[in-house]
Amino acid sequence: MSKYPECFSELAKGQHPKFLVFACSDSRVSPSHVLDFQPGEAFMARNIANMVPAFNQLRYSCVGATIEYAVANLQVENVLVIGHSRCGGIKRLMSLPDDGSNYYDFIDDWVRIGLPAKAKVKREHPDLSFEQQTALCERESVNLSLVNLLTYPYVQRAVQDGTLALRGGYYDFVNGKFELWELKTDITPPIVI
Ligand SMILES: [Zn+2]
Repeated sequence: MSKYPECFSELAKGQHPKFLVFACSDSRVSPSHVLDFQPGEAFMARNIANMVPAFNQLRYSCVGATIEYAVANLQVENVLVIGHSRCGGIKRLMSLPDDGSNYYDFIDDWVRIGLPAKAKVKREHPDLSFEQQTALCERESVNLSLVNLLTYPYVQRAVQDGTLALRGGYYDFVNGKFELWELKTDITPPIVI
């Protein structure tokens, strides 16, 4: 028995979410819980470390299909990428050996999407501790995902048309804080072939 019969009878006709949200698969950071999204409000993609690969970078990751459907078909008005504190995926990214070898089959290939963010943090903050660099990378990888979003043609078009906004967020679940910002980065997006 549904708790919201009126809501769901309306939603049965279709969905018109205004948000596409990328968040980590981490069990502690559910966007519906953090931002109180109700059914029908947010199309959602969750993966390790809330990563968005560039167009054609990892074609079968399913992320492209999610973006294509939400932006081109549902015409969401906002894409929000949410990073978070104590992210295991970002910690793994920061721990990857420089020789390019993998310990984990899938995880290591996946978190490599964030290598430009890791390089930026290490270049700009070489004297910080591993923990401090990792915390900075949790935010910087969100900026990288926003830049990568712009490599999808339907995202680029909608942003240029002013019908779509890209925003980054950071949820510090230990201290119960949430930050929100507009796309801002000087990371160069990977070349798309
Ligand atoms: Zn995480």
